[in-house]
Amino acid sequence: MSAAYLGKVLGQQATITVLESPAIPRIGVGEATIPNLHKTFFDFLGIAEEDWMRECNASYKMGVKFVNWRTPGAGEAGPRPHGADTDHYYHCFGQLPNQDNLPLSHYWAAKKLAGTTDESFGYACYREPPVLDAKLAPRRADGTAWTNYAWHFDAQLVADFLKRFATTKQGVVHIEDKMTEAVIDHRGYITALRTEGGRTIEGDLFVDCSGFRGLLINQAMREPFLDMSDHLLNDRAVATAVPHDDEAEGVEPYTSAIAMSSGWTWKIPMLGRFGTGYVYSSRFASQDEATQEFCDMWGLDPETQPLNHVRFRVGRNRRTWVKNCVSVGLSSCFLEPLESTGIYFITATLYQLAKHFPDKRFDQILIDRFNREIETMFDDSRDFLQAHFSIAPRNDTPFWRACKELDLAPDITEKMEMYRVGLAVNMPVADETTYYANLEAEFRNFWTNSNFYCIFAGLDHLPEHALPSLAFRPDAVESAELVFRDIKRQQSALLKELPSTYDCLRRLHGS
Ligand SMILES: Cc1cc2nc3c(=O)[nH]c(=O)nc-3n(C[C@H](O)[C@H](O)[C@H](O)COP(=O)(O)OP(=O)(O)OC[C@H]3O[C@@H](n4cnc5c(N)ncnc54)[C@H](O)[C@@H]3O)c2cc1C
Repeated sequence: MSAAYLGKVLGQQATITVLESPAIPRIGVGEATIPNLHKTFFDFLGIAEEDWMRECNASYKMGVKFVNWRTPGAGEAGPRPHGADTDHYYHCFGQLPNQDNLPLSHYWAAKKLAGTTDESFGYACYREPPVLDAKLAPRRADGTAWTNYAWHFDAQLVADFLKRFATTKQGVVHIEDKMTEAVIDHRGYITALRTEGGRTIEGDLFVDCSGFRGLLINQAMREPFLDMSDHLLNDRAVATAVPHDDEAEGVEPYTSAIAMSSGWTWKIPMLGRFGTGYVYSSRFASQDEATQEFCDMWGLDPETQPLNHVRFRVGRNRRTWVKNCVSVGLSSCFLEPLESTGIYFITATLYQLAKHFPDKRFDQILIDRFNREIETMFDDSRDFLQAHFSIAPRNDTPFWRACKELDLAPDITEKMEMYRVGLAVNMPVADETTYYANLEAEFRNFWTNSNFYCIFAGLDHLPEHALPSLAFRPDAVESAELVFRDIKRQQSALLKELPSTYDCLRRLHGS
C-alpha cells in the first residue's frame, strides 16, 4: 500500500524500492475494512472496484453486527432470528438522515426517553438493518450502489495485487531478500539497508512496513512503543478459517463481533469460508482456555483445526516519524480490530505523509505536525474502542468487570458527557454528508455522532435527557415523524428489490 500510494504521489521522479522477505510471512488474517478505503486509496490510485475485488476474493461489508454485548453468557455462533429478545445491534455504515439540520438520532432519543417508541436505534433510524438481517446486497440488480459499504478481503491477496500494480504500472522495484542491518550515519539518519543476500540498498527516506517487529523505527531508531494496555486489555488472538456453504446459507454482508467470556470473536465472511478469531486478554484467559471456548463456539476440534495464535502489542510509537524513517502499518500502531481500524490507519498515515512530504532537509516542522496528526487519529480511535467495553452492560466475568475499572482519557470522558446531556458528539449540528465531503474529516475526528449513537444506544446506554433545544422546535419534531415513516417504507422496498449478497458476489466473481 505504501509503495503504490507514494508511487502515485511522487510519480516517476522518485525511485521506490520494496524490500520484503519471503521467509517472513505477512500477518493477514482475513481483514474487514471501513468505507473510506475506496475514496482515500483505490480511487486515488485509479483502480476500479471490480478489478481489485475480483483478484482479492473480496466481499461486501455494510457494517458491524455486535452480538451478545449486553447479555451475560457465552458467545453464540449460530444465526439468531431477529426479534425483541435477540441481543444484537448494528454499527451501520449507511447515512443517518437529517431533519432540520439535526441528526435523526436526537429525535429518536427524545421519543425513546418519552416512552413513545420501543424500536431500537438502528432499526428506527437506518434503512440497512433489515437488509443486513436478510443478507441482501449493497448494490441493486443493475449494479448501482444504494448505500455506503466497505469490504472483507484477504490482506495477503491485496498485498500481492498491489505488488503487481506497483511494479508493472508505477516502476516500483520489489526485492525479495531479508534485511539484516540498517546503516546509520553520525546524525542518526538511516543511509542504507544491508541484506542476507549481500545487497546494500541506499535511500533518502525509509518507510518501515516490517510489522510488529518495527525493525527500523523501534530497533534501528530506538523509538519507544507506547504500550496502551491500560486502555484496552486484549493482547492475543486465536484465528482460523471455517468452510461455509454460501449458496445454501447466503453471505452475510457485515462483520460480526461476538462477545465472549474474555474478549470477543470476529467473523468475516469471505468466499466459501469465513475468517474468524477470538481476541482475548491473556490476563483473563490462557491460550488453551481461549482456544477451547473459541472451538466450542464453532464446533471445531482444537486438535485437528489449523489455528493461528497471534500476540499483538496495543499502542503506538511515541513518534511515527523520526528523522528519515516513517513507520506505517503494524510497525507504527495497533488497536484490536473491533472497528477494523488497521488498514484505515495505513491509509490515514499515507495521506498525512503525502501532505507533509519532505525534501532532503527533513524540516522538523513537517515531522512534528505529521506526528501530531497520527497521535490524534490513533488516540481518538483507542478511546472510542475503549468506550465500547466500558459501557457494555456485560459484567458477568472478571474480564468484563475489569474493563469497567480502566480509566478513560479526558477527551472521551468529555464526549460521553456531551452524549449524556443530549448533544451531538464530534460534530457541529450539521449534515454528515457535508461533513464527510471534507477529506480532512476522514482522518481527524473520524468517529462522529452517528458512530457514537450506533454503539452507545446499541448498548442500551441512552442520554439522560433529549437535546434541550428540541423542546423549542415542535415543527421539526413533527417533520421527523415523516422521516421515520419514510425509513420504514424504504426498508420494505429494499427488501423486495435487492438481490442477495451471494448473487451479487457470484455475478462479480463470475462463478
Ligand atoms: C489479530 C489481527 C486482526 C486484524 N484484523 C484486521 C481487520 O479486521 N481490519 C483491518 O483493517 N486490519 C486488521 N488487522 C491489521 C492488518 O492485518 C494489518 O494492518 C495489515 O495486514 C498490514 O500489516 P503490515 O504490512 O503492517 O505487517 P505484516 O503483515 O506483518 O507485514 C510485515 C512485512 O515485513 C516483512 N519483513 C519483516 N521483517 C523483514 C526483514 N527482516 N526483511 C525484509 N522484510 C521483512 C515481511 O516479509 C512482511 O511482508 C489485524 C491484525 C491482527 C494482528
